[in-house]
Amino acid sequence: MKIEVASISGNKEIAKGIWKMDFDCPNIANNVLGPGQFINIKVDPSWEIPLRRPMSIAGVKGEKITIIYKLFGRGTKILSELRPGQSINILGPLGNIFTTSDKDSFPILVGGGVGIAPILWMHNELNIKSVSHILIIGATTAEEHFLQHNPDKNIFLTTDDGSIGELGTVVPTMESKFKEVSSRSFGIIYACGPTPMLKAIHQITTKYKIYCQMALESYMGCGIGICQSCVIERKNDSPEEDSYGKRFSLVCSDGPVYSADTIIL
Ligand SMILES: Cc1cc2nc3c(=O)[nH]c(=O)nc-3n(C[C@H](O)[C@H](O)[C@H](O)COP(=O)(O)OP(=O)(O)OC[C@H]3O[C@@H](n4cnc5c(N)ncnc54)[C@H](O)[C@@H]3O)c2cc1C
Repeated sequence: MKIEVASISGNKEIAKGIWKMDFDCPNIANNVLGPGQFINIKVDPSWEIPLRRPMSIAGVKGEKITIIYKLFGRGTKILSELRPGQSINILGPLGNIFTTSDKDSFPILVGGGVGIAPILWMHNELNIKSVSHILIIGATTAEEHFLQHNPDKNIFLTTDDGSIGELGTVVPTMESKFKEVSSRSFGIIYACGPTPMLKAIHQITTKYKIYCQMALESYMGCGIGICQSCVIERKNDSPEEDSYGKRFSLVCSDGPVYSADTIIL
């Protein structure tokens, strides 16, 4: 883990309220392990905004890191106002990674809201390795999507208002695609997105006993296991061996990627 002052090379809006930023960050880029890991950005050099903002890494090319972020509050607004040539202070790489699939697994990748970045990176990696998979990305409305709905290529967009792709959240599409895929492969789901979406996916994967890895995006203060603000509850099958570490987990340092069957959402 390093702190590095990165030089921004690109920052533009790619869909309504969704921004893509690239920056040169060689020391951190060289240590990134894969999709799931994140960085923690000091968006403002002053102490007016002291807490860093965690952002998943959406890709690494050489010394360049890409993030995809959604305008949410004050910090992400400041990020969107930065221009190429300006600098930001980055802490990273942080967290663990998704365990990637082999050629027979036919994974389903599900992303929504602010949880698109690691899923897209994984989609690109699986394409490079020629691993067949399904990509499902959810948003409220068509304007928030920057990919094309393309069922022939196994890319499915969903919208809450039905303005593009499948009507509704990612969950019904995920469920129906899983039923199709599970007849011919083991089936695994990778997911990242807002907690209500992950809760719904958690229920379905538990019901059908589907192996699922999910990246959580809990609020966190430090990102390095000190402030204890990103605690989640672990599924603990042996309460007689109860301890803090067995009951709870820190998303920043134990996660953000978990096997769904090991946590309680
Ligand atoms: C591991 C991880 C990866 C992420 N990846 C992405 C990504 O790729 N793209 C993306 O768009 N977003 C991502 N997020 C979410 C992103 O970090 C937040 O959307 C962002 O921090 C919002 O900042 P803001 O200043 O715009 O919002 P604001 O709401 O103004 O501020 C958020 C700040 O307030 C604090 N805060 C607000 N509410 C609470 C609360 N209830 N409890 C504790 N603290 C609170 C937060 O810690 C944060 O510092 C990720 C989050 C995590 C944890």
